[in-house]
Amino acid sequence: MPPTHHLHDTPDLFALSDINGPVLRPGEDGYAEEVTGFNLAALHTPDVVIGATDGADVATAMRWATATGTPVAVQATGHGANFPMDRGLLINTARMTDVHIDPARRTATIAAGAKWRHVLEAAAPHGLAALTGTSTDTGAVGYTVGGGLPVLGRAYGYATDHVRSFQVVTPDGTLHETDAANEPELFWALRGGKGNVGIVTQLVCDLLPLSRLLGGGIYVPGDQAKALLTAWAQWTPTVPQEMCSAFTLLRLPPIPQIPEPLRGGFWARVAIAWTGAPEDGERLIAPIRAAAPVAVDTVEEMDYTALDRIHLEPQDPLPARESCLLLRDLPPDAIRAFLDEVGPEAPDCPLLMVEIRHMGGALSRPAPTEDAICARDATYLLETVGVLEAPPAAEAIERATRDLHAAMTPYSTGHTMVNIHGTPGDEEDRARPWTPEVYAHLRHAKSVYDPSNLLRFGHTVSPAA
Ligand SMILES: Cc1cc2nc3c(=O)[nH]c(=O)nc-3n(C[C@H](O)[C@H](O)[C@H](O)COP(=O)(O)OP(=O)(O)OC[C@H]3O[C@@H](n4cnc5c(N)ncnc54)[C@H](O)[C@@H]3O)c2cc1C
Repeated sequence: MPPTHHLHDTPDLFALSDINGPVLRPGEDGYAEEVTGFNLAALHTPDVVIGATDGADVATAMRWATATGTPVAVQATGHGANFPMDRGLLINTARMTDVHIDPARRTATIAAGAKWRHVLEAAAPHGLAALTGTSTDTGAVGYTVGGGLPVLGRAYGYATDHVRSFQVVTPDGTLHETDAANEPELFWALRGGKGNVGIVTQLVCDLLPLSRLLGGGIYVPGDQAKALLTAWAQWTPTVPQEMCSAFTLLRLPPIPQIPEPLRGGFWARVAIAWTGAPEDGERLIAPIRAAAPVAVDTVEEMDYTALDRIHLEPQDPLPARESCLLLRDLPPDAIRAFLDEVGPEAPDCPLLMVEIRHMGGALSRPAPTEDAICARDATYLLETVGVLEAPPAAEAIERATRDLHAAMTPYSTGHTMVNIHGTPGDEEDRARPWTPEVYAHLRHAKSVYDPSNLLRFGHTVSPAA
């Protein structure tokens, strides 16, 4: 690894004076707002933050970083901020929110800082939709470079399967246009390899002719978790690939942002998203509704732009710790192990949310153009979220997460998804979203595009020797 440069040693920021957005150092007005994102668990303290207004600002900042050997990170929303960046240059893309819809080609051109919400709002008037995840507050680009596991994944595949091209600035400051035919190695690494090889300034993706769906949550009291999970686990292998669902345990705090009667309660839920004929969807979910006494049922026909209602993810910034593990199957033993750790018999469980998402379907078909996603063999994805507001303390969340992973490891593929991996640990842990072959390939791509490892914060890999 090259020596770390602190800007205290290289104070000349003159080269950054070409940047149209703000260039701020610690202590200056606006610095705190510029570095703070959605996940308050990671407090970034870079030596300098720039508020990029366009691709040229990103390229100028990258050229300066290369010239001065300064490490770089990028942030759009801070939803994926699982590492505190303690030096270097932070490029904030939050001002770059342009979205252009081409209704004839059915594509969206999305700038680096646009949230999925911006894309859905722009696409909806044309009867088109994009493959967002469970919260439309996340950044479209950060989500997509990590593979992008959509709510409608079983029906339509990963978000990256629908990307046509990227514009990306590599650490040498060069702007590249890449697609399946142009610089295919770069195109490969940007689809599932996360922010390892450059900073994407915009992407073009295909949209779906979709404006309505059947979606929502079927909630039962938490003490009915076993009945609901058992029914869901038996049901999932029987449904068509277009049926998208997740089982979730929610220990909700008594805060006004959570609607009554869910506020402050312990719930088991099956979230549903179905884009086929509503009556077929209603018929298919009947066994889930019959599994246990339903307390709240929000499944209804809705506009695609209301997708946030399905998973009810928090919309306000909070300090969160997340984790995930891909599962091969979910036999009765696995259900027992899962409930022992986080079910009603574990009343002190400090995790706000523990979810098992149904994978398979279009998430298992090969990528249209080879990419770096290694989750296609998974049947389920286990995900946890803990909120660090005391109590519970971080240690309790970490212990509960570790114990749950240990209990579920016999049923796992051994891999994670980089988007939902949580705080990256040592090299072995960082490698977990990928097979050994794909990890080696990604390290090779890193050695080509970022040989000095300037993009070293967050879930990055080191360049191959
Ligand atoms: C409530 C919630 C729900 C979520 N649901 C899903 C889901 O359903 N499916 C799913 O796949 N993920 C999901 N995620 C994870 C999410 O996709 C990642 O956190 C993703 O990194 C968010 O991107 P961002 O730009 O919003 O975050 P940021 O914190 O701004 O960025 C995170 C990372 O993304 C990369 N990145 C961001 N911008 C760029 C860029 N311009 N060029 C290159 N790399 C970049 C960098 O590695 C950066 O460190 C969820 C996260 C939250 C908090």
